Amino acid sequence: MPNIEIPLDLPEVRVLKCKVSGQIIIAVESTREWAICHKCGEKTHEFHSYGRQLRLRHMPILGRSVIIEIRPKRFRCPACDGNPTTTQKLEWYDERSQNTKAYDQWLLLQTIGSTISDVARKEGISYDRVLGSIERLVLASVDWDEIEQLDVLGLDEIALKKGHRDFVALVTARQADGQLRLLGVLRDRKQETVESFLRSIPERLRATIHEVCIDMWEGYANAVRKALPQAKIIADRYHVAKSYRDCADKLRKEVQRDLKKSLKKEQYDGLKGTMWLFRRDPQELDKEERGRLALLFECASDLKQAWRLREQLTAIFETDHTKESGRAAIKRWVRRVRRSGLTCFESFLTTLGNWLDEITNYFVNRRSSGFVEGFNNKVKVLKRRCYGITNLKHLFQRLYLDLEGYRLFGL
Ligand SMILES: [Zn+2]
Repeated sequence: MPNIEIPLDLPEVRVLKCKVSGQIIIAVESTREWAICHKCGEKTHEFHSYGRQLRLRHMPILGRSVIIEIRPKRFRCPACDGNPTTTQKLEWYDERSQNTKAYDQWLLLQTIGSTISDVARKEGISYDRVLGSIERLVLASVDWDEIEQLDVLGLDEIALKKGHRDFVALVTARQADGQLRLLGVLRDRKQETVESFLRSIPERLRATIHEVCIDMWEGYANAVRKALPQAKIIADRYHVAKSYRDCADKLRKEVQRDLKKSLKKEQYDGLKGTMWLFRRDPQELDKEERGRLALLFECASDLKQAWRLREQLTAIFETDHTKESGRAAIKRWVRRVRRSGLTCFESFLTTLGNWLDEITNYFVNRRSSGFVEGFNNKVKVLKRRCYGITNLKHLFQRLYLDLEGYRLFGL
């Protein structure tokens, strides 16, 4: 068998023995010849004894798990009364942990985009031990000192269990360079909860918030109006789009139900595959798909109208409007909806009535939809990662790790 030699990369140790079986056990000894007396804080060079052996899990080598064994040196202080002894501490481990610091970071890196139980299974250690690494290395709340300015805040809600109505609120900063930063995970989305968090942002940073993107939820809007009166509230374009697209889709479901009753089975089955084309961006459809969609519209002219209105509204948001011209365009669109006689958009028209100001604020510092979409995709991924984690501190740590883990702990 060919052998290689690789550096151990642990400072201030010499290797005493190395045993390679299923795992690799490396016995080391400290080369540091002193300790700081825990009583007087002075350096002592008077060796006393070796302490109890520590077995520390370290980063794997060639797929084998690695254990570092070390008996910490103890030193006696000649200056202090009773000559107390102090156990030496080296930089690469923490005596309260069963892992080297490098292994803690390694575990953390494995956890990004994965789950704690999965990492625990792969590493052959307990769930709590992986959690312990996260607790040691990841903050439970944001460190404001790290942040220079906030610019745009986002308020989103996440459901902790699929289909549940218990929401927690996610507060993010959407920075001009495209980075999403997690600022807080709040226990609910009530106005007072959100408001008190916003007030807890240091004055210096609060003054840098110019815009807050929200889902159309009264509690968010009121909290922002009170705690950040200088900030412009923007109804998140993604949520606005979802709201009117859902209206069109509601009609699509009704039409589908009716066609199922009125058409022969073969005819209906032929159309069934076409239904999902309705939901897609028309620009993504090829010629054949457009043809099939046209066939569907021949059977259902209402659906064609709803589809056209939906796309017209999207086009308004794609256009480089001012707030005033955007508002006028939306009002023209509302008149077209009323003339069409369609009722599927009723709930969206109500939303428009309540939120037109916030919705048209979008046009003021209109950011490209790609920019907005980038954040929303990140938030969407985060939301999906939250199911089942109900401890808010852990939730913050996990999300924080997903968002910033590679930057903070990557190699
Ligand atoms: Zn001393």
